[in-house]
Amino acid sequence: MMTEQINVQLAATQREKPDQTNLGFGRIFTDHMFMMDYTEGKGWHDPRIVPYQPITLAPSAMIFHYGQTVFEGMKAYLTEDKRVFLFRPEKNMERLNRSNNRLCIPQIDGEFAIEALKKLIEVDQEWIPTAEGTSLYIRPFIIATEPFLGVAPAKNYTFMIIMSPVGLYYKEGIAPVKILVENDFARTVKGGTGEAKTAGNYASSLKAQEIASEKEYSQVLWLDGVEKKYIEEVGSMNVFFKIDGEVVTPALNGSILHGVTRDSVIQLLKHWNIPVSERRLSMEEVAEAHRDGKLEEAFGTGTAAVISPIGEFFWEEEKMVLNNGKTGELSKKLYDTITGIQYGTIEDPFNWVI
Ligand code: PMP
Repeated sequence: MMTEQINVQLAATQREKPDQTNLGFGRIFTDHMFMMDYTEGKGWHDPRIVPYQPITLAPSAMIFHYGQTVFEGMKAYLTEDKRVFLFRPEKNMERLNRSNNRLCIPQIDGEFAIEALKKLIEVDQEWIPTAEGTSLYIRPFIIATEPFLGVAPAKNYTFMIIMSPVGLYYKEGIAPVKILVENDFARTVKGGTGEAKTAGNYASSLKAQEIASEKEYSQVLWLDGVEKKYIEEVGSMNVFFKIDGEVVTPALNGSILHGVTRDSVIQLLKHWNIPVSERRLSMEEVAEAHRDGKLEEAFGTGTAAVISPIGEFFWEEEKMVLNNGKTGELSKKLYDTITGIQYGTIEDPFNWVI
């Protein structure tokens, strides 16, 4: 357990808070950020909260060349009675350390990171937006800072947390999206880095996303990288299908990210006694279910959108419209329940919020 005191250096002036009706996502940052450094032989040291500002790195810093980096995405929510809630932050820190392990980055003390995050939120508390459905998006990340051109784990790293007030994901209420099933590109493969939240996975997803956008699809559905048969994820979300009364999501197989929302949805479905299974699921099985009129709903899950209902799939030559392109009942119920727990308007039987 790290016991070092967090040094706080406050910004000389506070920047003006943004217009809450037009926050968008990830473009505005709060007044402060958290940083701590890692030096080989010394471990993590110098935890500090400082004014949000550019950082200086050598052009030879290893992050720029070999992409040794990991990140997380989570949110803080302000309840009606002005309490600040975090949703299962220990799961994010657990996943950050799983990503660290895959990328040969030293482990962090998850509990200490949550303490640091709480302190940072306290300093920037006024930045948590209050308008309905808004929240404070939190981005912890680690970069390899050693100035060295050589493919090896770095000897120096910086861990940072930055925060961004964000708007309601669906301005006009939760709305189904159109999905293109990706047959050429792969997000990752088994044995690759799919289970880690690391920059390269997102860089390699851009080309497929660009092509899908040109065809007016909002995201791609990723199939396994070897056989191009089995479903993995949708865009940067996990994916669920309701087939003939049973909810199915691809089992964690080494190339799928362990989504916190995914885990929460599974727990909720079990709590409601709705059959749910984690297993291998082929696109053919989904298409067949659709042809038989048994594909009742499909949705993506992730921190940003919570639940993103799917209104249409396009796979090879086949267009599959679900639920007349409308939001399914289960998608809506999951969305309302999870956001209700996050904002403290619904009782939290799982002790998810802290
Ligand atoms: N898959 C990928 C590739 C992601 O980037 C994310 C977002 N973190 C998710 C799934 C959803 O994870 P979570 O529910 O933890 O946000």
